[in-house]
Amino acid sequence: MILFPARAVHTMDRGRPRADAVLVDEGRVVAVGTVDELRAHGEATLDDRFADKVLLPGFVEAHSHSFEGGQWAHTYCGWFDRADPEGRVWSGCHSIDEVVARLSEVETAMSDPGAPLFAWGLDPIYFPGDRLEARHLDAVSEHRRIFVMHASGHLATVNSAVIDDAGLADGPADEAVPRGADGRPTGELLEPAGMARAGDLFPSYYRAMKSEGGLRAFGRLARNAGITTLTDLGSTNLANPKVRERWRAITDDPSFPARVSIFHNPAFGGGLDEQVAMVVGLREESTEKLRFGHVKFILDGSIQGFTARLRPPRYLPAPDGSDRGNGLWLVPPDEVADRLAAFHGAGLLVHAHCNGDEAVDVYLDAIERVLTDAPRPDHRHTVQHCQLTTADQYRRMAALGACANVFANHTWYWGDQHHDVTVGPDRSQRMNAAATALAAGVPLSMHCDAGVTPLGSLHVAWCAVNRRTPSGRVLGADERISVHEALTAITVGAAYQLKMDHEIGSIRPGLRADFAVLDDDPYEVDPMALRDIGVWGTVLGGVPQPADGRS
Ligand SMILES: [Zn+2]
Repeated sequence: MILFPARAVHTMDRGRPRADAVLVDEGRVVAVGTVDELRAHGEATLDDRFADKVLLPGFVEAHSHSFEGGQWAHTYCGWFDRADPEGRVWSGCHSIDEVVARLSEVETAMSDPGAPLFAWGLDPIYFPGDRLEARHLDAVSEHRRIFVMHASGHLATVNSAVIDDAGLADGPADEAVPRGADGRPTGELLEPAGMARAGDLFPSYYRAMKSEGGLRAFGRLARNAGITTLTDLGSTNLANPKVRERWRAITDDPSFPARVSIFHNPAFGGGLDEQVAMVVGLREESTEKLRFGHVKFILDGSIQGFTARLRPPRYLPAPDGSDRGNGLWLVPPDEVADRLAAFHGAGLLVHAHCNGDEAVDVYLDAIERVLTDAPRPDHRHTVQHCQLTTADQYRRMAALGACANVFANHTWYWGDQHHDVTVGPDRSQRMNAAATALAAGVPLSMHCDAGVTPLGSLHVAWCAVNRRTPSGRVLGADERISVHEALTAITVGAAYQLKMDHEIGSIRPGLRADFAVLDDDPYEVDPMALRDIGVWGTVLGGVPQPADGRS
């Protein structure tokens, strides 16, 4: 047994919320208490390396994507400064000219003339009045194919070499491949339907991000942020045994510092019955550090990309007065209930991406219909993102037994744009309404959606507690929640939605000894300093895992 004294242990367990030390044996918590109390359990080795640190349950990121690590194989061109897995900080690109300059620099250094140039993180909403189009990218190269994924992951922009190569200008108009006044595609490709039209570029963009090095970087970035359980929320290739074997090899390696729950995204794979059988079968392949057996749907797009589905009054008009339309359905709304029924009937957990409130209506209608036909206690079906979810929808979620995983980080990364550009001052204050969810009694977690925004649970909590935007606004002061509520959401709240709260998410006897190790106490610092608390690293199954640069 190992006894870890600490400056404080916050357990997220009501029975004993605070303690001085924790006793661990064979990867699990034996007891929490004072050092003297823990001595009563018998002989233990004292490990006092955390004597001046604060221990919390290891953070649980219930909505992330494994490409957070691998996307650095491509060139970053987002608005915010961002650190890569090696700790190098890439400065943000604050104009289309800066995007073009960065891509030109990379293009010049590329040796293989036939290799495509991939980039990511672009967010045109920060460049008012000007969208990145093929003509801009043609200034980087007219010959090399260029594919720039937007920060939301729901849109890409390509150059004319791609438009010509893939024959995008041929055939009838297509809403996923918008055209300019001259009738030519602008270079923007909307949602998977549009991006898939770029031929092999779309799959090869993702393939490059799923390298072994990228998956390992995902684990390192998690550990550096105090996260001990990750999700890969929506893999489309779990039917491939090689993909599963690679995950197994990586997570079986004791040096890989996180547990990973991988959800199946049924968007592209075979028949429904076949997919249900596959996911049920995959549960048998789960291990202590690797979980299969859950499903993730994607119903709509992103709000900042104007591809999410919104209830009236929908989007603000564009600066020229034109209508923004109302996004795209990624699953036909009248098919959602049947698809849910298939997975629900097999006893599976289904999370659904719903950014817009119209998408939430469709998912809740589906849950209600499915539960009417096939009641099932404790299903924990979860609405992911919930960005515009309204008070009536939260009350309905509570009645249906559904959970909310709220995209709290959006308030920082896009809050000003939601206020000024997408939905306006009123609804932007109601977005990511964690306080309303809690008031309605809906089980809550919150997320960063890495790689959309960087892995960082303390940042997620900071956003929900302060609701500050980069311009200094407090966006929706009445939707702020307490530090304790936020920390609950990123630990036991997230574990609950992964059906793992009997194993992880709090520090109590019998649970896995997974801890976030912090330099300061989140309950004592100024709430505005929450995101700046240093992270020493984690403890995973009783084994200390120092962050890069710590020991
Ligand atoms: Zn996501």
